[in-house]
Amino acid sequence: MTDNSHFWEKSVEALTRSQLEDLQWVRLQKTLERVTRSRFYEDRFKEWGLSPSRFEGLDDLCRLPFTTKEDLRSAYPYGFLCTPRDQLVRLHVSSGTTGQATAIFYTRKDVENWADLLARSMYMTGARPGDTFQNLTGYGLFTGGLGFHYGAERLGLLTIPAGAGNSKRQIQLMRDFATSIIHIIPSYALLLMPIMMEMGVDPRRDLQLRIGFVGAEPYSEEVRRRIQDFYGIRVFNSYGLSEMNGPGVAFECSSQQGMHVWEDSYLVEIIDPQTLKPVPHGSYGEMVLTSLNREAMPLLRYRTKDLTRILPGECPCGRVHRRLDRMQGRSDDMFIIKGVNIFPVQVEQVLMNIPQVGNNYLILLRNENNIDEMIVRVEVTDRVFVEDMRQLQTLQKKIARDLRGELLITPLVELVEPHSLPKNDGKAVRLRDERRK
Ligand code: ADP
Ligand code: ZN
Repeated sequence: MTDNSHFWEKSVEALTRSQLEDLQWVRLQKTLERVTRSRFYEDRFKEWGLSPSRFEGLDDLCRLPFTTKEDLRSAYPYGFLCTPRDQLVRLHVSSGTTGQATAIFYTRKDVENWADLLARSMYMTGARPGDTFQNLTGYGLFTGGLGFHYGAERLGLLTIPAGAGNSKRQIQLMRDFATSIIHIIPSYALLLMPIMMEMGVDPRRDLQLRIGFVGAEPYSEEVRRRIQDFYGIRVFNSYGLSEMNGPGVAFECSSQQGMHVWEDSYLVEIIDPQTLKPVPHGSYGEMVLTSLNREAMPLLRYRTKDLTRILPGECPCGRVHRRLDRMQGRSDDMFIIKGVNIFPVQVEQVLMNIPQVGNNYLILLRNENNIDEMIVRVEVTDRVFVEDMRQLQTLQKKIARDLRGELLITPLVELVEPHSLPKNDGKAVRLRDERRK
């Protein structure tokens, strides 16, 4: 299935930097005009003493204060709406991983533009009409299901709206319809592996899979490797958030070196979450996004709480849209133990490098007699589980030592039976903090 045409939307993907900035400015002006139709921004612009018509260029954006998730919650449900209700065709609610949900509205044009962003993203990885696309993420309020679904149909893929869960049927569908592309969250991709093995299905031998779109939650390079090796596919990282439509904000191209943010639709800034100032070029910080092409509910300088950095240099694929590094996680996910700041994905990275470690783990923080404890519960593989005690102890020590190397503190490591830790079809819960009740 080779195809030499490289771009889905050449007019925006193949721009030069200055053409892209011109387009951004045109779209930013439109967005600034539009946002004040919402109650929230109308009030805010008055409060700030700013007039949207007084902006003179992209750089002026930094004069605006940030919009936060708390703002979205406080204006729930309609405070950010910029269009009359009869122009809305869709509503999504963010999955509420970190607290009360927020509502996001779409006009018909928003849904169409969003589908194009996803079609463009998938096309960039090599997806083409003739492929069968199985969407293994939750449909419904979660944007991952319908977002990819519309994008895949737009691109012309045979689309199977499988949804999350019901694993045996998923595998059956893959087999019966020669699924070549899957969209799946990383934790579910890991959980599906032992089920395939149990069913005697070897994906490399029995299935036709070639591409995986994997995202919606943080995962490490090691997990990418595990998924690629097991399923025999190339895994492309996919990033998005409901507040900015959903998936399709940033996506990896075929060079698999960071995710291109679609800068014709989203303005990206990376700030220091403490000082709120821009970080030096290429440093890690919190990503702030401004939507440039949303009608129903555009957001200005929205603090995503996601920590990443902009990768330096140009991408071999030729797109000027800048690339984001793998997300470290959300600022909310970071925990502090014994004075050390840790992201769950750092633990994952160490664990998934050890072949005897299975696909699920849980970090538990406790306070015993006023001392903070970090416990890492690790599922071992079936093969290891039948080994003798001495080998298990050696493995336990190795995990503790490797974690110390990465985290600089030594957690307690508990090895548990395969498939014994809690699991669900949605985003994985990797951390349980029982210190503050
Ligand atoms: P919720 O905030 O309730 O989880 P969303 O479904 O909108 O609702 O999730 C968006 C969030 O998911 C992002 O802000 C980010 O934290 C996370 N996320 C999405 N894609 C990725 C990815 N590829 N890598 C890491 N985190 C991701
Ligand atoms: Zn590229």
